[in-house]
Amino acid sequence: MGEALPYGRQSVDESDIAAVAAVLRGDWLTTGPAVTRFEADLAAWAGAPAVAVTSGTAALHVAYAAAGVGPGDEVVCAPMTFVATAATAALHGATVVFADVEDEHLTLDPAAAAAAVTSRTRVVSAVDYAGHPADYDALRPADALLLADAAHSVGGTWRGRPVGSLADVTTFSFFPTKNLTTGEGGAVTAADPALLERARRFRNHGLVRDRAEQRHPDEGGWHQEVHEFGLNYRLPDVLCALGSSQLARLAAFKSRRAAIVARYGDGLADIAGLRLPTRHPDADPMWHLYAVRVLEGRRRALYEHLRASGVLVQVNYIPAYWHPVFEDLGYQRGQCPVAERFYAEQLSLPLFPDMSDADTDRVIAATRAFFGV
Ligand SMILES: *Cc1c(COP(=O)(O)O)cnc(C)c1O
Repeated sequence: MGEALPYGRQSVDESDIAAVAAVLRGDWLTTGPAVTRFEADLAAWAGAPAVAVTSGTAALHVAYAAAGVGPGDEVVCAPMTFVATAATAALHGATVVFADVEDEHLTLDPAAAAAAVTSRTRVVSAVDYAGHPADYDALRPADALLLADAAHSVGGTWRGRPVGSLADVTTFSFFPTKNLTTGEGGAVTAADPALLERARRFRNHGLVRDRAEQRHPDEGGWHQEVHEFGLNYRLPDVLCALGSSQLARLAAFKSRRAAIVARYGDGLADIAGLRLPTRHPDADPMWHLYAVRVLEGRRRALYEHLRASGVLVQVNYIPAYWHPVFEDLGYQRGQCPVAERFYAEQLSLPLFPDMSDADTDRVIAATRAFFGV
């Protein structure tokens, strides 16, 4: 049966290990030069300045804080996502309004999002599901901020513009299953310097160090003061060094992921019971998930079959409002039928850069065996 194949996993090589070891031998463990460097390296990929934080969830929490999200506000959110996209807005006291995704790429449907916007909408949050960028040009709301949850899509582009520069504010995750890792980690990018400064402050307790902005600047050289509450979401130097090292490998990760996606396409295209992922002609995705649709009610059976043969497929995701925390707030099933239909069919096949062609062929063979083709 061979070794178990996870649906995703990190790629850490000797260059990554050396980068981390160099920081451990140096003077800084937490906020030091590797943070500044990682933020600059990420900004070069993302096409906008970056603030590094401790996770993708922290990045979302920071981004909503920087957007001024609070009680009385509404946040329009795609439901086909990890719960954190919505949960972090709810934690700021906002009301989350789910708008459906479109059927082909499972990204927030611009018409559904527009219909959900009200005078209270502060942010519209799209998700680059599986690594495929949403259509931010079509999503842009008139009087609200546009957020991209790009936890899946660092390194992707849309009409030649990089993920990170497509929305007003973008969040990234560097969890090990994502496209690059810092262990735990994340980042926020935004072109607006004021928005980014609010993000930077929230990351560091809300502390104001610049005397020109302090209310009590004559207190003394030691003085820092808090104007708005924040948290400690600082990503340490050790992990930022890993991040810069991983970014140096991101182009290689991207082409390897694309090659595996192409191999799956060749190996599975003739199976009538499967619908394979597609790419919008304007998108050059960084493929994070290989998300197939299993037709005719056979998703669970294929899940069990592949798991039993050591292919550790995953389901991404239950619609966010199916979580009991949203059910208890009165969110009903049926409100986003496209997302719900997709969820009923969805399966993520293994996809990660260190997967060999033989690994990929093994997944293809086990899938073909299930369908008897
Ligand atoms: C992983 C993920 C997050 C959360 O990131 P963490 O780094 O795990 O906190 C948020 N949104 C999406 C779409 C994700 O896939």
